[in-house]
Amino acid sequence: MELSRQVGRPENDLVILAEGNTSARCGDRFWVKASGKRLHEIHVGGFVEVWLQPVLDLFDQQLEDAAVKQALQAARVDPDQPLMPSIETFMHADLLSLPEVEVVIHTHPTILNGLLTVQGAEEWASWRLFPDEVVLCGPATCWVPYADPGMPLSRAIRTSVRQFIAERGEVPKVLWLANHGLITLGRNGPEAWSATWMAVKAARILAGALATGRPPARLTDEEIDRIHTRPDEHYRQRLLWETQSNISTPST
Ligand SMILES: [Zn+2]
Repeated sequence: MELSRQVGRPENDLVILAEGNTSARCGDRFWVKASGKRLHEIHVGGFVEVWLQPVLDLFDQQLEDAAVKQALQAARVDPDQPLMPSIETFMHADLLSLPEVEVVIHTHPTILNGLLTVQGAEEWASWRLFPDEVVLCGPATCWVPYADPGMPLSRAIRTSVRQFIAERGEVPKVLWLANHGLITLGRNGPEAWSATWMAVKAARILAGALATGRPPARLTDEEIDRIHTRPDEHYRQRLLWETQSNISTPST
């Protein structure tokens, strides 16, 4: 929960008002932000506990909006819970069903969203400009073309993530949603939070580099690969998370 408040803090410029959402898996169920709740002031009652499988089953059905809402309501662990899960519950369920993904953070960082509205931004998803970007955000970012929020976006994310895994043989740590925002995935809260924070820093660096009008010198595939597979970088990655061990997941 502290992690969610941190994500929502105005000075972090990741979300405003009720933007953004977080989730954490807990076995065959997960906690997700309730619709309309503001992350910076959220408390335990601002999350809804939802069964994972019934939400995943909705991907295979063509339902009208009203039926989707009803199915979401029915997927709540506590049927008397007055709050509705976020409209983005589908994408959270899908991402939380990936191997080694326990926490999902979705935000709309201003600096990154500026870049994600530029034509051809997809090209930058495979760029890495500095070593810590590789360590915390992985060797590349998963690009997701624009789709309406809700089920259409969740389906687009599913398609892009499957393609990323097929091409690279690993689950992405960072996703860019065209004209929309950022998603980071982690085995725990600190890992997902570190990826968010580093992805935002990387966006600032990319924007700064592009502003010079000269082509940025990106790391080569060999350089990226070397950092990504170096054992001491994995050690450093763990140390970076551990410095943030005071941040807990949304379910705690
Ligand atoms: Zn969003």
